Amino acid sequence: MSAPPRETSPRIVIIGAGFSGIGMAIQLERAGFRDYTIFERADEVGGTWRDNTYPGAACDVPSHLYSLSFEPNADWTRLFAGAHEIQAYLVGLVEKWKLRDRIRLGESIDEASFDAVRGEWTLVTDSGESVRARVVISCCGGLVDPAFPKIEGLGDFAGPAFHTARWRHDVPLEGKRVAVIGTGASAVQVVPAVAESARHVRVFQRTPAWVLPRMDAPVAEKQRQRFSTSPWRLWLRRMRVFWASELRGPLVWLDSKRLSAPIEKLSRRFLRSQVSDPELRRKLTPDFQFGCKRILISDDYWASFERDNVALETEAIARITPRGVETADGRTHEADVLVYATGFEVGFRSPPFEVRGLGGRRLADVWAEGATAYKGVAISGFPNWFVLMGPNTGPGHTSVLVYTEAQMAHVLGALRRLRDEGLRYLDVRRSVQERYNAGLQKRMSRMVWKTCESWYVGPDGSNHSLYPGPASEYVLRTRRFDRGDYEAARF
Ligand code: NAP
Repeated sequence: MSAPPRETSPRIVIIGAGFSGIGMAIQLERAGFRDYTIFERADEVGGTWRDNTYPGAACDVPSHLYSLSFEPNADWTRLFAGAHEIQAYLVGLVEKWKLRDRIRLGESIDEASFDAVRGEWTLVTDSGESVRARVVISCCGGLVDPAFPKIEGLGDFAGPAFHTARWRHDVPLEGKRVAVIGTGASAVQVVPAVAESARHVRVFQRTPAWVLPRMDAPVAEKQRQRFSTSPWRLWLRRMRVFWASELRGPLVWLDSKRLSAPIEKLSRRFLRSQVSDPELRRKLTPDFQFGCKRILISDDYWASFERDNVALETEAIARITPRGVETADGRTHEADVLVYATGFEVGFRSPPFEVRGLGGRRLADVWAEGATAYKGVAISGFPNWFVLMGPNTGPGHTSVLVYTEAQMAHVLGALRRLRDEGLRYLDVRRSVQERYNAGLQKRMSRMVWKTCESWYVGPDGSNHSLYPGPASEYVLRTRRFDRGDYEAARF
């Protein structure tokens, strides 16, 4: 019998050069898989941290955990680094690993289809070029494209109107009246920052949010030096942050009023310390269970409503007019600049473009009833196609990168099998994927996320975004590649 054809590295395409795409490329380099190309539709790398440059943008998970464990950074200047510093970290990694030559900037993949006979994907770029790859790693991110609210007159505003993720740095805010729509994770960062320069900021709130203190602080120069000279200290810091969030996890994700009561009490006490007016406090107090929506952390969001130039508006928005925002009670709130802090289209739930797997099946059809994957990484019927930050891999309580790194390890395991056994493709068994997801959805019924509306859940109330359990458990389940879970096709 002839030996299977040996490839030193199957040809790989990574789609997206954000945190997951860059991290995946570094892991490929480290593992010796050197035949890869990265397609990035934007003109620069960085993903979220390239796009979100609004005033106050920063990570809301401590930086020593919100970074790649295999590329630790001793130099974070703050416990919660600003967006520009995170972007500089990512660009620095691209330079360090000489990834620039591998990245095709400004080129998007618009279609993908699998040829089972050749064990090969054909990808079509926006310029119509066909690119072939044995393996595709989709690193397109979960929260990328800005979502705008469905409000009448959206395009009618006469002044500059833009989304937090498309900040108009050419629009000075000094002396301007700024209207901010939304009170999520982006809003709590942008409102205090904009209030520093704008004449007036009016925040349009549909749902008040639970907020906890961030307790941000600079990392002293001496400490950074210690992290640099003794990497084990940096690792210890990372572990401390990780395990603290893991231990708090159940308070955040379980549907248990008894468990959420103490943390809600803490948040209410924080609100009392920040806002003196009881009526304003009442308006800012949420009525949903803690953890149901993304937890917000901020040292100065609530306090900013104590400023003379910041006002809260809780009346529903009726329409946008050329002069400002009209609320349901008929008042018009005039503004010079309109900021949409209204979140993102949720990419976990739909294919990033037309993807056709075995037998020409469309991923959009397979996911019509909800996006599912095996461990969020592999989809039955779509061989040699792997996803980072796929369905049910988001955390409610810790750094998403912990999950992403486990997915990278899983992909590397698959690549080694493909290479070492000379396989045509690996396709996760349908029964394995179904069993995995049935288990997830069973556990989902005990989670708090079903008790309110948020981007975590789809219009039908199903949750295909978050992982219902500890990150450590997800990591242990995912990082090992179990060959028995996959059907293998040989050449
Ligand atoms: P978001 O959490 O989805 O918040 C969107 C906000 O817009 C909500 O307050 C929502 O109100 C409001 N909204 C939407 N449509 C509206 C309408 N028609 N009228 C009035 N208000 C409306 O978006 P985000 O703040 O951009 O955050 C999204 C996710 O990105 C976060 O959960 C987080 O995972 C990530 N993020 C992370 C960071 C960080 O690490 N620093 C920063 C920002 C974002 P309702 O609550 O009533 O729906």
